[in-house]
Amino acid sequence: MANERKFVPRRRFTRRKVCRFCADSSLKIDYKEVRNLRFFISERGKIVPRRISGNCAIHQRKVTEAIKQARNIAILPFTSAHSLD
Ligand SMILES: [Zn+2]
Repeated sequence: MANERKFVPRRRFTRRKVCRFCADSSLKIDYKEVRNLRFFISERGKIVPRRISGNCAIHQRKVTEAIKQARNIAILPFTSAHSLD
């Protein structure tokens, strides 16, 4: 059994993730609302890609802009080195 090929059937989860900003219009994308933006930042301070965050293109773009603004005024980290947690 040297050449054991493990074929794991990858289940495609096609539960359509709805963009949370589209679903809930009360959620604001604001660079001052770090609590909301934190969802879209990995623990290393990177912006989470759309395919993971589930955002639509419009909102992902807004989130990205907001995160960048927040970084510039130092309320979000560029890297984990400055992480407060
Ligand atoms: Zn959206």
